[in-house]
Amino acid sequence: MVRRVLVQAVSTVLANGNLPGWLTGRLYRGPLKVVCVPGLNCYSCPGALGACPVGSWQSSMSGVLPKFPLYVLGLLLLFALAFGRTVCGWLCPFGLVQDVLHRLPVPKLRKRSWMRPLTRVRWVMLALAGAGAYLAYLAAGIGKPLFCAYVCPAGMLEGALPLMAFRPEMFAAAGKLTFWKGAVLAVLLVAMVFVYRPFCRFLCPLGLWYGFWNRFALLGVTVDETKCVHCGRCASACPMDAELAGDAHCISCGRCLEVCPTAAISFRRLGTSVLTRRSSCRYTQNVNQETEGNGGE
Ligand code: SF4
Ligand code: SF4
Repeated sequence: MVRRVLVQAVSTVLANGNLPGWLTGRLYRGPLKVVCVPGLNCYSCPGALGACPVGSWQSSMSGVLPKFPLYVLGLLLLFALAFGRTVCGWLCPFGLVQDVLHRLPVPKLRKRSWMRPLTRVRWVMLALAGAGAYLAYLAAGIGKPLFCAYVCPAGMLEGALPLMAFRPEMFAAAGKLTFWKGAVLAVLLVAMVFVYRPFCRFLCPLGLWYGFWNRFALLGVTVDETKCVHCGRCASACPMDAELAGDAHCISCGRCLEVCPTAAISFRRLGTSVLTRRSSCRYTQNVNQETEGNGGE
């Protein structure tokens, strides 16, 4: 846990290491800014040295001349094949925000079976982030980054709020959209205190994308099928929504390694065969529903 928080902190500082930006409120616009970082980190954050992959994808498809973001797709594939959702658990600055807020010592809302269908909302967000800008172009002749504009809480927290703090005139010019984004952020910040990573679990399109590749990524969590006795303890202990350690919901936090009775779970070493894992476990799903796991503690 400590090791993971340290890696998250280093990753967050590296992604937002533009010190002059934090002192003046001016964005960094040097050569690094064309490179996407793996996690959700707003381009408009005064400290941001790189670009957000979700924002870059949408901005390529925005404006009067939308372009297919081949470069961003290539980077997203590279990150996905290297890390899968380990990005979410270990590298994403917005994941760190959620982890920190969830450490506040107040009663927690335990993981329940009714929460699981909410993970499907991420598909709507993926459609909005992936195709929304182009659909807006088809409808109105100009592409708009709809996910950034209407949903992304990282944009509000890391971009709009610090910039408004530096330039009060921006706050004075804030309209309905800013207040909407502020409300979305406020609701999520409160939810983060009581529910483990609500944005990652129910809204984040980037996490959904990386989850597709968890099975093939070089890094991640893996289950040795020859040792697994399908007891379901990993699903119960998982603070996310994994039905078996290492599945598409897994962010490689490592919590399940401590509860597996047969030591079947391990962090994948480079080169571990994907054949030692399988994508679903009927017995584990049943146990998960019955126990309504204790995630988020
Ligand atoms: S905790 Fe998970 S991986 Fe370990 S034996 Fe039980 S079902 Fe298998
Ligand atoms: S508890 Fe296990 S399955 Fe759940 S996110 Fe952490 S490493 Fe993945």
